Amino acid sequence: MKTVKLILGDQLNLSHSWFQEVDGQVTFAMFEMRQETDYVRHHIQKVTAFFAAMRHFRDQIREQGHQVVYYTLDDDRNQQDLSRNVMQVIESVGAEQWGYQWPDEYRLDQQLIEMRKKWELPCEVVDTEHFYTSREEFGDIFEGKSSFLMENFYRKMRKKHDVLMSGDQPVGGEWNYDAENRKKFPKKETPPDPYILERDVSDIVSMIETAGVQTIGEINPLSFQWPISRAEGEKSLTYFIEELLFQFGSYQDAMTSRSDFLFHSRLSFLLNSKILSPREVVAKAEAVYLENKESMGISNVEGFIRQILGWREYMRGLYWHQMPEYAQLNYFEHENELPNYYWTGDTKMNCMQHAIRNSLDNAYAHHIQRLMITGNFALLAGVHPDHVEAWYLGVYIDAIEWVEMPNTRGMSQFADGGIVATKPYIASANYIHKMSDYCKDCYYDNKKKVGERACPFNSLYWRFIKQHENKLSNNYRMSMMYRIWDKYEEEEKNNILNQAELYLKQIDDL
Ligand code: FAD
Ligand code: SF4
Repeated sequence: MKTVKLILGDQLNLSHSWFQEVDGQVTFAMFEMRQETDYVRHHIQKVTAFFAAMRHFRDQIREQGHQVVYYTLDDDRNQQDLSRNVMQVIESVGAEQWGYQWPDEYRLDQQLIEMRKKWELPCEVVDTEHFYTSREEFGDIFEGKSSFLMENFYRKMRKKHDVLMSGDQPVGGEWNYDAENRKKFPKKETPPDPYILERDVSDIVSMIETAGVQTIGEINPLSFQWPISRAEGEKSLTYFIEELLFQFGSYQDAMTSRSDFLFHSRLSFLLNSKILSPREVVAKAEAVYLENKESMGISNVEGFIRQILGWREYMRGLYWHQMPEYAQLNYFEHENELPNYYWTGDTKMNCMQHAIRNSLDNAYAHHIQRLMITGNFALLAGVHPDHVEAWYLGVYIDAIEWVEMPNTRGMSQFADGGIVATKPYIASANYIHKMSDYCKDCYYDNKKKVGERACPFNSLYWRFIKQHENKLSNNYRMSMMYRIWDKYEEEEKNNILNQAELYLKQIDDL
C-alpha cells in the first residue's frame, strides 16, 4: 500500500528502522516551513543548521534508494504549513496511509493528533528510536512520589542501562562526582581549541533572507562552523572524546573570557536533531574511560554521562509529564520585560556581555553561562518567564521546547516552584567572581553592593531574597541566606534595596 512517512526536522536519525530497507511503496516527506521558522524568532544559525542538516539527510537517504519529497522554503509547492503539505504529498503520490515518528514537542504532537482525527486515513505512529526512555517512563518511575529528584532518576538509568556500573554498584564507588566539577579555569592554562568546521551555506542564508524570515544573531555564510551531517557528527564526537573529555568535569562550571566553549562538547545540536544518538555518545565516553582509568579520572566521565543519561532524559520525561500546564507556570509572578541588551550584548556588565555575545555570535553559550549569568540575571530582574523562554528558545542552536522549557522555566527561573530545582539558581557577584575571570575587567565592582559602580547582581540578589521571603524562607536550602540578611543593619538593608530599585528603573542602561 502506498504510504507517506513524515520526517520532522529534528528526526534525522539514519539508524532508524524506517531507513534500513528500501520500500518502493514508501515516500518520505520533508519540509522547510514558515510554520517552523516563525513560531518564535530564531537565531539565523539555528534556522540555517536545521535546513542544512535536513538537506544533507535527504541526500543521504536518497542515495540509499529511498524516495523523498522535499520542499525547500522557497518551493512553489510549499504551503508553509505541516498539515497542508502532508496532505498535498499524500494526494500527489496517491497514498492510502501515512505515518510519522512521535514528535518531541507538545505543539507538534497536538497538530499531528488533529491531522489524524481530521483525515481518518490509516496512520502509523512509531518511536523515534532515539532516547533511552519512552515518554511515559518518567511518570512510571515517579509514580506516587511528590518530588522528582533527578539523582534518583539518574541512578535508575545507570542501573537499567548498565552504564558506569560494576555489578550493582557505581564504578568508582560514588554515583555522582558533582563536588569535583567546580574548578575555576586557571590563569596560566591555555583553553583548548574547539572543533570548528567551515561550510558555505550562503544559498540557504540568502533563501531565508529573501523569504523575509525574522532572525536574531550573526552568521558568516561562507564559513558556517556547526556540524550538520552524520560524518561531521562522528568527527565532532571523536574530537570531544580525544581532546576535551579528560578535563570536561573539572571545568564544567568554569567561565572565562578567553574561550567561548572551554571543554564543552558542542554536541547538543547533533543530539537534538538525532544525528547522533545518546547511546553512542555515552558508550564512547564510557569506553574511553574504561581504557584510560588513571589518566581520565572518573569525575570527568561521570560528569559528562550524567548530563546525557541523567539530565537530558530527565528533562524530556518531565516535559511530557507536566505539559501543557507547565508552559503557564510563573511561581514568582514576575512581569518585567527582558532588558534590551539580551538582543545586542550592549551592556557594561562584563559577564552578561560575554554570555550574550557568545549567544548572538555562535548561537551557543555553555550551561553555566545560560544558568548563572543570563538566567540568573533575568530571574533577579523579575522578568516574566514567557519572555525569558522566548529568548532561550530562539537564540540557541540546540533549543527545542522539550529541553529548553524545563531548563529555562524550571531550572533557571524556578517558575515551577521547585519541580526541577530544589532552590532557585540565583547568585551574586561572589559566585561569578569565584567561577570566572569576568569581574576583573568589568566596569562594575564585584565587591560593592551599593554606590557608584556597585555590581548590579549584588543588590538585585538581596532584593530578590527579601521580595520572595514568603515563598522561600521555609526552603531549608535558602535558610542560611535569610539568616545572613537578618544580620544586616536596617540602614544597610535599605541602602541595598534602594540600590536595587534604582538599577531596576535603569535596567536597560546597566
Ligand atoms: P555539554 O556541556 O558538553 O554537555 C553534553 C550534553 O549533555 C549536551 O550536549 C546536552 O545534550 C546534555 N545536557 C547538558 N546539560 C543538560 C541539561 N541541563 N538538560 C538537558 N541536556 C543537557 N540544552 C539543550 O539541548 N537545548 C536547550 O534549549 C537548552 N536550553 C537551556 C536553557 C537554560 C536556561 C539552561 C540553564 C540550560 C539549557 N540547556 C539546553 C542545557 C545545556 O545548557 C545545553 O545542553 C548545553 O549547554 C549544550 O552545550 P554542549 O553540547 O557543549 O553541552
Ligand atoms: Fe558581572 Fe558584577 Fe562581575 Fe561585572 S562585577 S562581571 S557585572 S558579576
